[in-house]
Amino acid sequence: MLNFDEEIRQIALPSGMPLGMNAMQSMQGAAPQASGGRIRVEDKRIINCKADVNQLVPFKYKWAWEKYLAGCANHWMPQEVNMTADIALWKSDKLSDDERRLVKRNLGFFTTADSLAANNIVLGTYRHITNPECRQFLLRQAFEEAIHTHAYQYIVESLGLDEGEIFNMYHEVPSIRNKDEFLLPYIDVLTNPEFKTGTPDADRALLRSLIVFACIMEGLFFYVGFVQILALGRQNKMTGAAEQYQYILRDESMHLNFGVDLINQIKMENPHLWTSDFREEIRSLIQKGVELEYAYAEDTMPRGVLGLNATMFKEYLRFIANRRCQQIGVDVLYQGAANPFPWMAEMIDLKKEKNFFETRVTEYQTGGSLDWD
Ligand code: FE
Repeated sequence: MLNFDEEIRQIALPSGMPLGMNAMQSMQGAAPQASGGRIRVEDKRIINCKADVNQLVPFKYKWAWEKYLAGCANHWMPQEVNMTADIALWKSDKLSDDERRLVKRNLGFFTTADSLAANNIVLGTYRHITNPECRQFLLRQAFEEAIHTHAYQYIVESLGLDEGEIFNMYHEVPSIRNKDEFLLPYIDVLTNPEFKTGTPDADRALLRSLIVFACIMEGLFFYVGFVQILALGRQNKMTGAAEQYQYILRDESMHLNFGVDLINQIKMENPHLWTSDFREEIRSLIQKGVELEYAYAEDTMPRGVLGLNATMFKEYLRFIANRRCQQIGVDVLYQGAANPFPWMAEMIDLKKEKNFFETRVTEYQTGGSLDWD
């Protein structure tokens, strides 16, 4: 019987491929190991790594592996959440027009945003991250983005909303379109088949894209939306949707934390990329993100709703933006910004908070897998 290596050698080598480089290595652009093929921890790097990306161990980046395990231990599916109360409420006259507008525009952003996130990971980021433990997390993350898209679709279907209206809002509602148009160039740069890392400019383009994705898209644009639906849930409205959003928030907090670790590790391994000009550019991108998100908050809550208003979101966005700056090591943008929604910290920190139906603990589990003694 052929072993895996032999099977690979049976694959015809394209002409011009250097002797000793097998087809699998060629696919990810990795050259053969100088040390005879066995991977040493010190050979591993997040980007531009020459070591074989198929060898998961020895681990170098345990934080990535641990986040992968935590993601798996916290697996959930949208259909596990009971939507009966939401359906009854949506059919009743107990929701105001402003509350309905908020729910629809919220879904209008999220239904397509997580598809963008998944495509960004699978068609862009994954290819350029040359480390197997990080790729393992990205594979898990890509599936979680699919679950989130599924959750939004499930809410739209449960409530009997006009699918065409909701799924096209990212084309048709300017405050949503503007956010996506801001993001798209940073996704497109990585999905371009011609794009390759390995020069300071290209490596900086990758780092810029990772920061936009983790800190601005997942870490800022998602949070206004989460606050809105979780605020409804706190008032005992749309409790099924709010429960789904709690699980999504839990996943997204992990995506954000992984993204921050990834960014900081790349900075550490490639200090020449982190120039003062680049840091200033990042700050102005985060500032632009805050402006776009504030416009979205005003559009979704033109009159104030649920005891929330756009001004509170301005402060919240500034607080969150400062936090993102601190996490990746750039100077904060808004001195003294405070959190007007302290209850969100509880949701994010995932203390021993139970969901609205008390059916399942939403804190992170680390013991979700069986132990065999
Ligand atoms: Fe995500």
